Amino acid sequence: KKSALIIGSGIAGLATAVRLKNQGFDVQVFEINKTPGGKLTEISENGYRFDCGPSLFTMPQMIEELFTVSKKQRSDYFEYERKEIICNYFYEDNTRFTAFADKEKFAEKAAMTFDVDAIDIINYFEKSKKKYDLTTSLFLEKSLHKLSTYLSIDTLKAIAGISTLEINTSLHKVNTKRFKDPKLIQLFDRFATYNGSSPYRTPGIMSMIPHLEQHYGTFFPKGGMYSIARSLYRLALDLGVRFHFGEKVEQIIVKNNNVEGVLVNDKEIKADVVISNMDIVSTYSKLLPNQKPPGKILKQQRSSSALIFYWGIRRICSELDLHNIFFSNDYKKEFEFIFDKKQVTDDPTIYINISSKNECQDAPQGCENWFVMINVPGNEGQDWDNIIAKSRENITKKISRILGVDIKNLIEFEEILDPRTIESKTQSYQGSLYGSSSNNKYAAFLRHPNFSRSIRNLYFCGGSVHPGGGIPLCLLSGKIVSELIQNDNRL
Ligand code: FAD
Repeated sequence: KKSALIIGSGIAGLATAVRLKNQGFDVQVFEINKTPGGKLTEISENGYRFDCGPSLFTMPQMIEELFTVSKKQRSDYFEYERKEIICNYFYEDNTRFTAFADKEKFAEKAAMTFDVDAIDIINYFEKSKKKYDLTTSLFLEKSLHKLSTYLSIDTLKAIAGISTLEINTSLHKVNTKRFKDPKLIQLFDRFATYNGSSPYRTPGIMSMIPHLEQHYGTFFPKGGMYSIARSLYRLALDLGVRFHFGEKVEQIIVKNNNVEGVLVNDKEIKADVVISNMDIVSTYSKLLPNQKPPGKILKQQRSSSALIFYWGIRRICSELDLHNIFFSNDYKKEFEFIFDKKQVTDDPTIYINISSKNECQDAPQGCENWFVMINVPGNEGQDWDNIIAKSRENITKKISRILGVDIKNLIEFEEILDPRTIESKTQSYQGSLYGSSSNNKYAAFLRHPNFSRSIRNLYFCGGSVHPGGGIPLCLLSGKIVSELIQNDNRL
């Protein structure tokens, strides 16, 4: 029986473990932390439970697939429900907009709130769908870096449709062309942040993202986001995957350009294939110090990071829902601060996620668990303590101003996560949320491939490699890796 060793139990590591076990491998996972999930973690304290990382769950079919290939009943492990409301938007001029999942309802409400006709919104979604249909099988579902991908029919179709893809223009320019109301443009610009990029730089092709929300829907997992990691971990255990928590892989052992295993606690552990779910920059710098790193790929600008306040709030705010956005008045400046100045503006866009709106046991009675996040640059040694203190002041003022309640006095519990702690807890270089940014039209081609070009039997999965960050793409990377391994290592 062939053996596979996975470094890290992030969502992609778990998905890869499940798939390889189903392919007949003996699978072991080594994880530094005491629990599985990587960026997907939770904290429970003082009667509050918070999901610490991802809060938006899309494309559950990627999870479903893992149960199907394992011949297990998904509902025995994991339940989720579709949301009718995607997000509540708040603007400084008191405009409020509830984004409904239903396309027609969204368009109708948008026409009542913004300077736009409903048909223009519907047309936007149609174009978004076209982009998605043209590119998924090319960019997302395959290893982009194998020659056969370039020669496939899908590639040709995608290239043929290139003007539809709007690769040569920015997302902001696409949105400005379609809409005239700056508030609506801002709403559609925001999708750039789904992969940690700037709408003023990320290519127009990213306008396919709204299609994912409107067509496939947004969901909430029963028990909160952490139940995604928990259920995949349970599935992997039931299949016979062996986990080693609190065990740090120190090096990947390579001999004659072939991977032989890993070094843990100075002990060599042999394996036929090794898959790193560790951030790709950290994998090269820490685990492969003697290998020449692919400089051009690793020098790509990193995606944004986050500053998150987990607040226990002594009040129920009926204006808020599961997902809420309080927009900055100057979006352009916000992104210039993040990607050029590497600082945080005084008026950042604030995202508030409240899982207790769905799961009342996540907060004491009459209270709510607020996950309050702003996008910030990666950790390059900034004075984070000062940034945190200033941002806390700006954020509480902005929320209080818009909601008309003094939020500061309602905070009875607080925890904070910043780029430094994201980096130290998950080994994500600079604490970036999604690996490299997509602030570049070649970004899709410049992500690291899912395999090593120079070391046989070494593979990579997770948000820092192809096809990208975020739960659905991480799950896809696990699928691509397991298919590559299947093809390279016929049992
Ligand atoms: P990671 O989660 O990065 O985990 C890697 C694991 O490897 C870690 O557990 C680490 O401890 C372990 N490891 C690293 N090095 C070693 C070693 N040497 N030895 C042993 N173990 C090691 N995505 C969404 O889809 N929706 C969202 O709403 C969303 N919001 C986000 C908000 C925040 C605050 C954050 C942080 C992320 C968010 N994301 C979101 C992104 C998403 O969380 C990530 O893309 C995804 O979870 C990354 O998974 P991964 O498989 O790459 O591994």
